[in-house]
Amino acid sequence: MSAGSALTRPAFVTDELLDRLVARVPGRTGATWKLTEVYTGEVLVELPQSTPEDIEAAFEEARAAQALWAQWPVAKRLEVFKRAHTLLIDNARNTADLIQVESGKNRRMAIEETCDPPMIIGYYLKRAEKLLKPKRHGGPVPVISGSTEIRVPKGVVGIIAPWNFPFATGLSDAIPALMAGNAVVVKPDNKTALSPLYGISLLEEAGLPKGLFQVVCGEGPDIGPTLIDNANYVMFTGSTATGRVIGERAGRNLIGCCLELGGKNPMIVLDDLDSTGVAEWVESAAFGVFGNTGQICMHIERIYLPETRYDELKSAFVERARNLSIGAAYDFGPELGSLVSVDHRDRVASHVEDAVAKGATVLTGGRARPDIGPAFFEATVLEGVTKDMLAGSTETFGPVVGLYPYRTVDEAIHLANDTDYGLNASVWGGDVARAEAVAARIDSGNVNINDALATAYASKGSPSGGVKQSGVGARHGDQGLLKYTDAKNVAVLKKQVMGARPGQDYDAYVKQMLQSLKLMRKLRVR
Ligand code: NAD
Repeated sequence: MSAGSALTRPAFVTDELLDRLVARVPGRTGATWKLTEVYTGEVLVELPQSTPEDIEAAFEEARAAQALWAQWPVAKRLEVFKRAHTLLIDNARNTADLIQVESGKNRRMAIEETCDPPMIIGYYLKRAEKLLKPKRHGGPVPVISGSTEIRVPKGVVGIIAPWNFPFATGLSDAIPALMAGNAVVVKPDNKTALSPLYGISLLEEAGLPKGLFQVVCGEGPDIGPTLIDNANYVMFTGSTATGRVIGERAGRNLIGCCLELGGKNPMIVLDDLDSTGVAEWVESAAFGVFGNTGQICMHIERIYLPETRYDELKSAFVERARNLSIGAAYDFGPELGSLVSVDHRDRVASHVEDAVAKGATVLTGGRARPDIGPAFFEATVLEGVTKDMLAGSTETFGPVVGLYPYRTVDEAIHLANDTDYGLNASVWGGDVARAEAVAARIDSGNVNINDALATAYASKGSPSGGVKQSGVGARHGDQGLLKYTDAKNVAVLKKQVMGARPGQDYDAYVKQMLQSLKLMRKLRVR
């Protein structure tokens, strides 16, 4: 399809805008990183690289702003986010332009990504006041004692974000942290710093106090340690390998962290799909495998098909994959965009080459497409993938999937669970109750029934995270906000009654105390 050379950059993405966006990134040595337009490989802007001193200064400024912000009543803080909700939606197309130039994803995914922060704002606008309100609890002695659970912001939250959803991971995890009264220092990936910088400028336009949301940039191993050492809590999204490094350092500092990591996500198709079900499955599976060019943490890399219907389902899916349009365009034309970088393209290609060398078959795709742009790779379907292959055991994170036949549902579940990861899974079936019973047996933080991934991720009321080596903690739901707070337990005793009364025999006191424990249980006093 379209070639990168004929491409016109979106009118919104001017040099003036880019210079203004990166101007807020501290970089006292003047060192920069060349941020490029993925479709063409052309340099867009020189991104300042922050030093440890820059990061310490950013935390200092954030801490000063946080001390004032935490004193704002929650309702007043939320007013900022009501305005931000409107601004983020009204500027979605501009945001999508920036997401596309820096990540190379197609237009559909860029627009869908812009929806995530407003969805998060919408959800927590309804929940935040309730979650953050002090809660009264009964004390050990009814009536004369009680305690209050007070939610205190952690302070300054460090957020380390990946390149695959730079706008969503740069903003959406920060929003509940800010609502809870924290400041944020975010480190986006160098490749994709523009859209989060733009999103933060919109939050400030909505009234977020200046200084509260800082951005530092640099290569992870260079600036990660200083960021973690200055943070009161770390929110990390990225690979399992890096998550281990982050978690170790946070542990040493005795601060909390949430780690949202990689996956090797399975999809099981049960044998009872009718023709409508098959058609819906093909579309959903194509999106689940190839959406965002396969660079979604929850995307599907393994599809298990019933042996009795293997040929029929395989040919329907392969046909769809073969017909996906691929191209470099800032409109809604191409269904498949670019990978994020040439390095990543090479990594994806190495998984396919390794699989083929060890005996797998390419059913469609399998090649890089430099004729379209530097980092394009075809939608690829493999068969005969085994666990000794890279594509069979580790995350490929590209538009590559393996198809596997299974004989029994037990076998399919066993194969789906035969991985170190546990981020997302999908089960397709005509009988939803049967599919739910299968879902219950899959070791995964998220399971989508009759969808590939979006339903679970967009259900903001349920915590979403990984199990096994896919993560620690979760985003979304009540814990997606409460994790950014400490619970302070303030207890009041109105009269000193705990202990023997003057002159009371201790045995008598113990007997009375044990009886009252039973009584309280009966009265359901907690
Ligand atoms: P990555 O781990 O290489 O990098 C993620 C971020 O961490 C980047 O900002 C990077 O600069 C930084 N980083 C790297 N090394 C660091 C270090 N030593 N200290 C501090 N920071 C460091 O991951 P990636 O390749 O950018 O992103 C793709 C990965 O992210 C995939 O594995 C994908 O599954 C995962 N991911 C997970 C989720 C989720 O919610 N579970 C969401 C998106 C992406």
